[in-house]
Amino acid sequence: MEVLDTLYNEIIGFLGISQAWEIIKSGDYSSFRTFEGVQSLIFPIIPLLVLLEFVLGLVYKKPQTKVYKVNFLIYVFNRFVGRFIAIAMVTLCIGWFEPYALINTGPTWYWFIFAYIVWEFGHFIYHYLGHKVRLFWCLHATHHVPENMNLSVTYAHFFLEAPYADTIRTTVCILLGMEPAMLFLIMFIDGTYGAFIHVGENMIKDARFGFLNKIMLTPSHHRVHHARNPLYMDTNFCNLLNIWDRVFGTYQEEQTDTKPEYGITRKVNSGNFLDVYFGEIIALGKDVWKAPGVKNKLAYIFMPPGWSHTGEHKTSKIVRANYMANRSG
Ligand SMILES: [Zn+2]
Ligand SMILES: [Zn+2]
Repeated sequence: MEVLDTLYNEIIGFLGISQAWEIIKSGDYSSFRTFEGVQSLIFPIIPLLVLLEFVLGLVYKKPQTKVYKVNFLIYVFNRFVGRFIAIAMVTLCIGWFEPYALINTGPTWYWFIFAYIVWEFGHFIYHYLGHKVRLFWCLHATHHVPENMNLSVTYAHFFLEAPYADTIRTTVCILLGMEPAMLFLIMFIDGTYGAFIHVGENMIKDARFGFLNKIMLTPSHHRVHHARNPLYMDTNFCNLLNIWDRVFGTYQEEQTDTKPEYGITRKVNSGNFLDVYFGEIIALGKDVWKAPGVKNKLAYIFMPPGWSHTGEHKTSKIVRANYMANRSG
């Protein structure tokens, strides 16, 4: 029966209801009013929405089964490997960089706002490099392969991406004086909201949310980020606030005449776990192998995706510039 026990615990874990379940069992409902209690009620929101979205897909006969199946496999794989390395990296970075913090912050609302802006900055750096350095793109591309947008995409990540992302984000935050408790609070908000912005058209068709689209990052912005349309490629790197996209000129709103086409430019068999998970690494390996000379080999690893030693670059910058030139011409 051990197998059934494990399975039961995994399902409860996936749904994120174990904490809430403990409180219900204890009969002491007043603890729902504590921070942990509120957290225990927010945790299950995304998994339950994933299930609802999946069921809606079945009802409307748009099951997108390929995407769900592979994203589920990825979830299972990462569940056992990626998360542990990421937690270890966060702990290490806090220990390493706390003594070098440039300023001191405290647990007040204004430091919370400061901390959130700093977190978004760390997120911007990790995410921008994830798109602009081919080696890091290998870690991030798995998240961009799905050709449909829905909440299961939240789980589509290469297992080394979380450690890579958390190393950069934690280092930036700790160096700028963030206290670990504040960091974990922000990670929780960021993780929950960052999952929600993958909500699909099945559930919310127009995800611009009116005036909110002007002041924060909505699922509509993130749909743009996941699109391979030349106009949309490599834009909207932020997660909840889009300050840094505006500062660095990567802000792009969804245009009514340009429907997002999801996915990456490489032809991928999105129903094949190995291709979704390792496809970009294999492609980089082939390019490095074939490239003449050490300089070209290194350039493939560190230049943006689409860079070519032949000079026929297909980077997003060039694709977008060509598109803009044609559109205005
Ligand atoms: Zn991305
Ligand atoms: Zn995403």
